[in-house]
Amino acid sequence: MAQRRPTRQVTLGSDHHGYVKIGGDAPVSVQTMTSGYTYDIDTCVAEINKLAAGGADLVRVAVPEKKDTDALKEIIPQVKVPIVADVHFHFQRALDAIEAGVHKIRLNPGNISDRKQVEAVIEACKDKGVPIRIGVNEGSIIERRDKQKRMKELGGVFSNNKHGHFLAIMIAKLEEYLDIFYEKDFYDIVISAKSPDPNLCIAAYTEISKRFDHPLHLGVTHAGPRETGSIRSVVPLGHLLASGIGDTVRISYANDPIFEVEDALEMLYCLELRERKGVDLIACPTCGRIQVDLFTLVQDVRKVLAEEIQLPIKVAVMGCIVNGPGEAEGADVAIFAGDRRGIIYVQGQRVANVKEEEILEALLAECKKFEAKVLAG
Ligand code: SF4
Repeated sequence: MAQRRPTRQVTLGSDHHGYVKIGGDAPVSVQTMTSGYTYDIDTCVAEINKLAAGGADLVRVAVPEKKDTDALKEIIPQVKVPIVADVHFHFQRALDAIEAGVHKIRLNPGNISDRKQVEAVIEACKDKGVPIRIGVNEGSIIERRDKQKRMKELGGVFSNNKHGHFLAIMIAKLEEYLDIFYEKDFYDIVISAKSPDPNLCIAAYTEISKRFDHPLHLGVTHAGPRETGSIRSVVPLGHLLASGIGDTVRISYANDPIFEVEDALEMLYCLELRERKGVDLIACPTCGRIQVDLFTLVQDVRKVLAEEIQLPIKVAVMGCIVNGPGEAEGADVAIFAGDRRGIIYVQGQRVANVKEEEILEALLAECKKFEAKVLAG
């Protein structure tokens, strides 16, 4: 893992909602976005609470209409996680959201570019200490009628990169936009440069990280359903994070956003960029030696341990003992299945040999004992 790129740090939140730091030495934060209508207050509050309970550090909501920013006034006091307003097209929605007490604003230079309007939002954010994310997503930053001309003008700068034209436009747009903020002496800025193309994401964030010291919000936009979107997202995001780039992440699926939070957290745990909460589960893929229903067992173990164990203990579920405990080396608690039986090891020592139907209960008991031992010091 490369050292994390030094960035400025922005802070958002409140005493009631907690504070989240993005950039600098802050842990990489996880964010997501609600999928329902913001004006549907009770549903929105319930979804935000569910996402926060699932591990989201901040939650973004869409505010396309006045009724959405009006709803924010009631939503924000009812939730306990910082809220980000996603603003497009109407700068007045940003002003309304700030007035309603939102903790961060997302602006799209592609659809709010009028200097006076941007300045008004900056002034309001400055007044309330609200940071702004500038999202220069591919697709939303290029006006179709100008596209060919601008690509021709700017493409030469990045001519050695396959995505050079898009990169050139993104960087130019970003520089133009940032000038407005700098002139207003406003630096509480987070930058994102999302695209559905994983290679373009890597190229764009890498380039931006060389040029600006603002924290980066990583994401692959429109990644698709979870089944394919997880790979489309985690490949570039994991690459960037392992290269030291990225300060907050959002994975986006065409699915319940709770999965975005779960997968983003797992990615950060795997990269050791966040301290794991709960069990670290490994399991074998099974093969022709298997003599128990391991797939069901793994799912059951995952569910039960997620509910019962809080510490990040490492648990291995192995289909057989063909390679001995070495296969699960490093696991605190391991189960090796045999002929309709399971042999349990704790820190490499064999502690039990139980029937297949007793495996789950016995494994849970050993995990609880191990957790209690760790807690007792
Ligand atoms: Fe096959 Fe045993 Fe390895 Fe599982 S642990 S993949 S069953 S050899």
